[in-house]
Amino acid sequence: MRRSRRANFPISAAAREFLGRHFPEHSLADWCDWHWQLRHRFRRSADLNDIFQLSSDERAALTLLESDKPPMGITPHYAALMDPSNPHDPLRRTHIPVPPELETAPEEIPDPLGEQHRTVAPGLVHRYPDRVLFLATGHCATYCRYCTRSRIVGRASDEVANTRARWDVALDYIAAHPVIRDVLISGGDPLTLEDEPLGYLLERLGRIPHLDMVRIGTKVPMVLPMRITRALVKQLKRFRPLWMSIHCTHPTELGPESTEALSRLADAGVPLGSQTVLLRGVNDTPDTLKRLMHGLLKRRVRPYYLYQCDLIPGSAHFRTPVRVGLDLIGTLRGFTTGYGVPNYVVDAPDNGGKIPLLPGPPPQWDQDTLLLHNYEGRICQYPDTAAAKDGGSLPPPSSSASRVATSTVKPGLSPEVGEAR
Ligand SMILES: *Cc1c(COP(=O)(O)O)cnc(C)c1O
Repeated sequence: MRRSRRANFPISAAAREFLGRHFPEHSLADWCDWHWQLRHRFRRSADLNDIFQLSSDERAALTLLESDKPPMGITPHYAALMDPSNPHDPLRRTHIPVPPELETAPEEIPDPLGEQHRTVAPGLVHRYPDRVLFLATGHCATYCRYCTRSRIVGRASDEVANTRARWDVALDYIAAHPVIRDVLISGGDPLTLEDEPLGYLLERLGRIPHLDMVRIGTKVPMVLPMRITRALVKQLKRFRPLWMSIHCTHPTELGPESTEALSRLADAGVPLGSQTVLLRGVNDTPDTLKRLMHGLLKRRVRPYYLYQCDLIPGSAHFRTPVRVGLDLIGTLRGFTTGYGVPNYVVDAPDNGGKIPLLPGPPPQWDQDTLLLHNYEGRICQYPDTAAAKDGGSLPPPSSSASRVATSTVKPGLSPEVGEAR
């Protein structure tokens, strides 16, 4: 690998200080080398002891961490974003285990989405009619304690082995099924792959004529932003249309490094969306979510999904009631840029797929009048006369919240008829 002596990536003041304190024998150029970052990940309690004042809970959980859990892994870049003296620091909560992770609630299961029942080839999930999820690798740059795929990430699992032989079986399935028009490459984190195998994968997919688009799901721009090298960007640019879904958690992730990574991707013409898991005590306040969504918009990332935390074993301490998620979305919708409001979804057990939820009461019809609640809680009337003109042959849908979200309310036709909710 080519090694330039000078740093080729922005580095925050806090990261410089962290490097000087914990890696005094290493250079800024080392810090900006993504392989260096991966090699120097914090993986054991002893590693963390040197940089954080660990709480007794964190210490206890680290000694008890079982092999059925994802390993611990935190890049120096990501560790430098965490508060060394505060165990409640949001990013620290998401990456350092605590004892509740070792308790499994009755409703928690290793594969809460039932992905294994829709696995059509090792690591290939075909749950929706026209698109597939391709788990390209089981490795990540860092391991989130609430990971949906905690059953397979970070360990030797045949299902997600990044071997050409396994990939080829999945690629053959995609090529043999013209109904598939969209492939979501995830894992694990596909951007932890080297440029060469990633290029192979994209090239093979690029040769399948019935594919309209390919997407990459990744947390790398947040946790290992220096992976977004000029060479990688140049390679990604060759495959169109390639979309990317960035997994982000909290506004503190949006430092100069991730800003540069996102900027390189956006400049390369890769449409960027974001996915955030709603986490108790981490990002479950209106202010945090709004700052995160605004920060993403400023960096040309369109907030896509806000997920209710999946029912994986040992995740109860992360979960908010769905009511809280709805109220939080209610603080965004209408109050800020529509592009900045993600879809709040429950990824339903038993292969239900992602089901969006909207705040407020479901729509109601009073004869031909649709009663809608606007973002302020005011009731607006929409004359839904098209239904009557159809001779009443089309009964109004009983409760289709998503339909209401996309209909147009004409303020002039909408006298206030009720109280704010
Ligand atoms: C999330 C997901 C997709 C993609 O869903 P979109 O709503 O199109 O983003 C595809 N397959 C599986 C199995 C998924 O979990």
